[in-house]
Amino acid sequence: MTGVVNPNLHREVAAYGAGNVDLCMNCGHCTAVCSISPELGTAFPRRIIHLLQVGREEALTQTVEPWLCYYCGDCSESCPRDARPSDTMMAARRWLTARYDWTRLAGIFYRFGWVQIAAILLVALVVMAAFAIYHGPVVTSHVALNTFAPVAGVELVDRIAAGILAFLLISNAIRMAWSFMGGSQMLKVPVRIYAQQVPQFISHYFTQRRWRRCSTAPSRKRWMAHLLLFSGYVSMQILVELLLGWFQTDTVYPFYYPQRLWGYYAAATLLYGTGYFLVSRWRKLKPMHQTSEVSDWLFVGLIFLVALTGILVHIFRLSGLPLATYITYAIHLAIAASLIAIFVPFGKWSHLLYRPLALYLTAVKQAAAAALAEQPDLAPAEEPAVPDGDVPDGDKPDAIPVIAVATEEV
Ligand code: SF4
Ligand code: SF4
Repeated sequence: MTGVVNPNLHREVAAYGAGNVDLCMNCGHCTAVCSISPELGTAFPRRIIHLLQVGREEALTQTVEPWLCYYCGDCSESCPRDARPSDTMMAARRWLTARYDWTRLAGIFYRFGWVQIAAILLVALVVMAAFAIYHGPVVTSHVALNTFAPVAGVELVDRIAAGILAFLLISNAIRMAWSFMGGSQMLKVPVRIYAQQVPQFISHYFTQRRWRRCSTAPSRKRWMAHLLLFSGYVSMQILVELLLGWFQTDTVYPFYYPQRLWGYYAAATLLYGTGYFLVSRWRKLKPMHQTSEVSDWLFVGLIFLVALTGILVHIFRLSGLPLATYITYAIHLAIAASLIAIFVPFGKWSHLLYRPLALYLTAVKQAAAAALAEQPDLAPAEEPAVPDGDVPDGDKPDAIPVIAVATEEV
């Protein structure tokens, strides 16, 4: 066993919305039903709960197992103690997100919903104030959106903000990778192995395909809704970040023109995806929807509002309503800026990066272990090639835990 024991660890993680860790009696029902557990070769998710119970903070920081869980809820349904292990995995992901974030804002936003709401309102107010001060001439005889908000200026601000947020997100992702790969005791993994596994990252990032392995039909439906939502989000990002000059135009093209069709697709998938998840949370039909944190509602709700206000801008523009178009456009950008600024580096959006990154790094470790078997000099000087100290006594599997997970994936 390595690392300092933190007796308050389960309470600290509970602040992120954990299930009832104290109720767990380590029976293993959750492990028996979890579709990910056999691939991992560990007693997942019971192992993570055990780490929390015994305060193994360092081991929890170094594992990526919570990222491999897609919150199907099967484990919570099977738990005889109502310890809600699926909620604990979600809380562990939030806690890990806070640990990766060097600004510490993620932890504050997750633990204090009112701070997150205040930050969202602050960003929105700044954007609205910027529009009030810096907007262009207000043409009222017809809709002239590009006169009110010149596309070059919007594009410039857009790209500067994107650069800052990308820096924050990527720097946090590097901290995650550093921690998982062993920190100062990092495996000497050849660069070619990192390069060879890049398709794993791309594939998981765009399809989230591991989700389909969850056994229940509702999970597959959630995966499809999530995939549609993701495609809508990516479409909107491409249109706004790369093609704004083409997308934001005062020219009204025919219905079938690609600019309109692409925009309609993005709006429809965003509305469908967010509507699906909002209704699911509201009705609480599945275990994963029975407890929703403030950040869950805010994230999905803001995406929904971005899509809705975008559609309204379009309708007002086609209807020839200048003032309604300008005001709704400013509100639309204020909501979009709040969503991106708060959730991309510090909130739920970052899961889209951390999940595929966890799978990618796991695949890298698996490939490195295979190489290590042939070339023992790849191992670090003083520590075992893959520390197994984070496996509780009695849980040690035959295979190396984090490496075994990718056996079928690679
Ligand atoms: S099923 Fe419940 S009580 Fe049993 S190990 Fe899992 S979380 Fe603990
Ligand atoms: S929510 Fe599903 S994938 Fe996650 S630990 Fe539970 S059973 Fe496994």
